[in-house]
Amino acid sequence: MDSYEQNYINGQWVDSIGGTAHQVINPATEEPGTKITMGTAADVDAAVAAAKEAFKTFSQTTREERLALLGRIVEEYQKRMPEIAASLAIEMGAPVSLGNAAQAPAGLGGFISTIEALKNFEFSEQQGASTVVYEPIGVVGMITPWNWPLNQISLKVAPALAGGNTMILKPSEECPGSAAIFAEVMDAAGVPAGVFNLIQGDGPTVGARLSSHPDVDMISFTGSTRAGILVAKAAAETVKRVHQELGGKSPNVVLPGANLEEVLPPTIGGVMINSGQSCIAPTRVLVHKDQKDDAVNVVKAIVDSQEVGDPTMEGGHMGPVVNKAQHSKIQDLIQSAIDEGATLETGGTDLPTNVNRGYYVKPTVFSGVTPDMRIAKEEVFGPVVTLMSYDHLDEAIETANDTEYGLSAVISGDPVEASKVAPKLRAGMVIVNDWGPAPGAPFGGYKQSGNGREGGAHGLKDFMEVKSITGIPA
Ligand code: NAD
Repeated sequence: MDSYEQNYINGQWVDSIGGTAHQVINPATEEPGTKITMGTAADVDAAVAAAKEAFKTFSQTTREERLALLGRIVEEYQKRMPEIAASLAIEMGAPVSLGNAAQAPAGLGGFISTIEALKNFEFSEQQGASTVVYEPIGVVGMITPWNWPLNQISLKVAPALAGGNTMILKPSEECPGSAAIFAEVMDAAGVPAGVFNLIQGDGPTVGARLSSHPDVDMISFTGSTRAGILVAKAAAETVKRVHQELGGKSPNVVLPGANLEEVLPPTIGGVMINSGQSCIAPTRVLVHKDQKDDAVNVVKAIVDSQEVGDPTMEGGHMGPVVNKAQHSKIQDLIQSAIDEGATLETGGTDLPTNVNRGYYVKPTVFSGVTPDMRIAKEEVFGPVVTLMSYDHLDEAIETANDTEYGLSAVISGDPVEASKVAPKLRAGMVIVNDWGPAPGAPFGGYKQSGNGREGGAHGLKDFMEVKSITGIPA
């Protein structure tokens, strides 16, 4: 059994000050797994003090020094990728093959795209009589979720380092092991003491203290809109910079006459991957009424071919969802769709037939879904596709935008026609005939999906302050 019972503060692994023992439940077996210590406000205070001290020197490092540091992190990270994948399998249920092919590499991608952005970043520009410079913000608190955990960690840590900030990471209490390995990577890469600190723990204790701490200059949060609002409220008293990457309810606008056999497999794959636990999963599939029956057949065939099974085994199957609470929430939403009159095409609320325990969900498809149903409005975060039909494209666009979220949107069909629809969608990322964002492209949402962007040059800018200096030679 893995055990990560210490925090990483000021370049040392140290015991928690008054923390409590905790074991993560393995979602495939429902048995206790990884051991950690849930940290305390005192742990946060110690880490913030270390980060504040380290900022004095790290903020003065050069672009070349930070590029060299990021390069060493990439080297060390690559060595640990198989361990990261193995840890994710037992903590959040991502199959090892997915961990090795996508989850762990996503973390690497965050560093690589940041290195490219840093190489080309203009730290100083002339605007009229003023020299405008970009400077590090200071001590950054980072709170991350469990669903693509290394992706979310690297999209914060890499630009924060590139910008010359120091930081305290509080990873999700659902997957602390991979975050501890990440801290070991930072140590092995020679990140100076105090620049990167890790505190394990929950949201209401460690997350809340980080969000309200007077010496934390910025809080960068990824997770649910519910918790993101609490973080912003806690941060308001000290007017810290607040960066939020929150929930989503992404549409997939299938253009009239689209070749369904061609365009649906990759985009429906974006709903099934990671057991449906992706913030940008394009779950609301909008199809012209003339193609409704064909779309049901194509989607059902894709989803029926999705196998479910043990995440510690190699293969293209889907693992369980992360925990009991998430499992219950998904079951409740599936039942609500049945009760509200949607047609269950495949899947449903029982356990898949080949498993007898674990938080597994049957890959599920509903047709006849209408915008007023809960399943059309609430983020499911499970392997559930909802099909809705439309008469006119304008109606599809209106339904696509009829959500409190605005993270991403997919358009399936002719790319030229898609380019006319893209400006009408109220979402931070529009992807045509696919579901994932391009490396280095700005990642973030409109409306209640968040504030700010991660990834590439935009992500780097979000971890910097802007200063204008007027009256010096240009
Ligand atoms: P969550 O909000 O429950 O937890 C996320 C993090 O916030 C965890 O580390 C948790 O401990 C912490 N937290 C919880 N309550 C807190 C509080 N009061 N104060 C401070 N921190 C607190 O979310 P989750 O279940 O881990 O992740 C799933 C959610 O994350 C989904 O809504 C998903 O859409 C969203 N998400 C968004 C993005 C994005 O980039 N927009 C990416 C991945 C996930």
